[in-house]
Amino acid sequence: MAFWPSVVVATPAHSGVGACLTYRSELSLAPGTLVRVPLGAREVLGVVWDCPATPPEGLSEAKTKPVAGVLDGLPPLNDRWRQLVQFAARYYQRSLGEVALAALPPQLRDLSNVQLARRLKRRTKAGVDRPVPAGDVVDGHNLSDEQRRALDALADAKAPVLLFGATGSGKTEVYLQATQRALQAHTDAQVLVMVPEINLTPQLEARFRERFEPLCGAGAVVCLHSGMTPAQRLSSWLAAHTGQARIVLGTRMAVLASLPGLRLIVVDEEHDPSYKSQEGARYSARDLAVYRGKVETEALVQEVELLRAGPHPSPLPEGEGRGEGVNAPRCQVVLGSATPSLESWHAADQGRYVRLAMPARIGGGALPRLRLVDMNHQPKGAVLAPPLIAAMAERIARGEQCLVLLNRRGYAPVLACHDCGWKSSCPHCSAYRVFHKLDRTLRCHHCGFTERVPRACPDCGNLDIAPVGRGTEQVEEQLAALLADVKRPDGAPARVARMDADSTRLKGSLEVQLATMHSGEVDVLVGTQMIAKGHDFRRITLVASINADSGLFASDYRAPERLFALLMQAAGRAGRDAAQSAASEMWVQTWYPQHPLFASLKQHDFPAFATTQLAERLSAGMPPYGHQALLRADARTQQAAQAYLNAAAQAAVGLPHFEDVTLYPAVPLTIQRVANVERAQLLVEAASRGALQRFLSAWQPVLLAGRSLPEARGLVRFAVDVDPLAI
Ligand code: ADP
Ligand code: ZN
Ligand code: ZN
Repeated sequence: MAFWPSVVVATPAHSGVGACLTYRSELSLAPGTLVRVPLGAREVLGVVWDCPATPPEGLSEAKTKPVAGVLDGLPPLNDRWRQLVQFAARYYQRSLGEVALAALPPQLRDLSNVQLARRLKRRTKAGVDRPVPAGDVVDGHNLSDEQRRALDALADAKAPVLLFGATGSGKTEVYLQATQRALQAHTDAQVLVMVPEINLTPQLEARFRERFEPLCGAGAVVCLHSGMTPAQRLSSWLAAHTGQARIVLGTRMAVLASLPGLRLIVVDEEHDPSYKSQEGARYSARDLAVYRGKVETEALVQEVELLRAGPHPSPLPEGEGRGEGVNAPRCQVVLGSATPSLESWHAADQGRYVRLAMPARIGGGALPRLRLVDMNHQPKGAVLAPPLIAAMAERIARGEQCLVLLNRRGYAPVLACHDCGWKSSCPHCSAYRVFHKLDRTLRCHHCGFTERVPRACPDCGNLDIAPVGRGTEQVEEQLAALLADVKRPDGAPARVARMDADSTRLKGSLEVQLATMHSGEVDVLVGTQMIAKGHDFRRITLVASINADSGLFASDYRAPERLFALLMQAAGRAGRDAAQSAASEMWVQTWYPQHPLFASLKQHDFPAFATTQLAERLSAGMPPYGHQALLRADARTQQAAQAYLNAAAQAAVGLPHFEDVTLYPAVPLTIQRVANVERAQLLVEAASRGALQRFLSAWQPVLLAGRSLPEARGLVRFAVDVDPLAI
């Protein structure tokens, strides 16, 4: 007897190959089975989606190739996982094969069954089968009242939870104890904890390991992120897929991991833009987490109903619902942030999410006081205002630490000749190359093109070429000079250090730099936004943001939201030790101290800020009230990119739901050329998400066909970005 499995394989985004290819098999293969199948001259990895016993209509049975092999020993990917992947592909307008195969570890493709068996055996030996014992919370802090209330509400919530907790309110402890409860409630339970960037906060990983490895065994906590080697990724994925890993800590890619026992998803810093993928399928891991929680919960509810309704009503499965009273089992989703995304905030306003607030800091310390420095009243040309320097000197003398935040790495964003007007433009991009003084290079931060700094102006030979503007290297240099005479309590001179993508490029260097900060060796840390995120430095009492104004007037309507979140996050690094919190301050240098954003920031009043922002969004029909997608085109010329987009817009006339969407004219991107590719985009707006989705689905084949039009000559690629973060 033969079967005709339809198999999903990795197809390039727009190859036009259908979602599934049909093969032949002697065996019936369960949906979700991993197989190797011939494709052209190659053999590729695939996932069985369906396995009917009758061939699909019109199939030439003789020409249908047999499945080459099954990956033995691996349980099939379950229905919920396939539903998640199918949803992600459809919603973000990509091929099913691309999304499904990208969610699997790349090394799985290259392993023979013998190698795979060896890996699985190695894992079993590492042996993680000790369940979390029921009963009281082991170790951990005594919860604050707010933490306890949040945890109790979490257990009762019938919808995703928005944990709105001030910086330092102890959200991590809530995640830890919610994780423990979930693991206790069911012997197979798994928990997914997502963070924006795992490398930035080794503390979090350490806390999860410390808490759960003694309870569940050495291999119970695994990480999943793009910085891992292929072998590490495979190992973590196998542990998650086979249920050996109880906790998966990961970045956005982890949302697509196979987790058969998933019972809790935590999305920490849920507002962070890095949850939105910027390449391939441009999915939002936060939004997929919410969807995934819903799918998993529906399946759990169904399972329980089946058991209850069966001819012989049986008790709940072993351990089910323990400690949860009469509640039906759920896969709970927790979105945590001190400055939630306006999308999530709005969802909570509407009652779609349950909002749980933890406004107080652990220990009762105050949030830092905001001090605005009006740059109109500072000495001309001052990068750092004298009162700020004086305040920092005082702190250092008391043995306290300071953070100085600015959003540009390198020494200066431009190098210029004042005689002829030459500037350090990148020959491949419409951007300037940044001057890095330490290694005397001009580096393009967009395409990576790097050259040594010329000794004289390349155009006129003038020797006097000078930096314009400032970056972290320069501020570090200036601060070291300005604070040269300041002494720490131990009599040693003040020490200034820098932390940004350049200083942390080498493996292990980030950990070293964080350690010098924690140990108090460093008094002032200068850096990009990576220093503002998540760190629990105990001795910081002053945080300064020195050039944030661009965020106030940027053309991107999300810029204020991002700026507010960044400044709140940064402020949250100060005064984490309650004993020092009363004296902690957040300094912001600005030319616009009257800007309303600062009024809310001064009060630490995120709800007020969100309310005004949402009112503006409502009147402009912007998300979360309206829905958007971008069609982006890359081409050899700007004209070609725009011609393709405009042709696509014309071809959209009359498609289903065309009346419900607005198509805007094609425009170049802000940085219109990168690595010699010209970039343009076209905005699509709709009042309803459903209408936008249906329109995009109808548009997709038109976009594919459009590539062969004469207008598309010179087109390199196109992509649809649904719910874009920047327009
Ligand atoms: P958040 O993530 O909300 O900014 P954290 O979870 O990092 O805050 O907690 C801030 C600090 O408070 C951490 O050092 C943490 O160990 C400590 N902490 C959390 N909960 C408690 C508690 N109930 N009792 C004492 N300390 C706590
Ligand atoms: Zn010149
Ligand atoms: Zn470049």
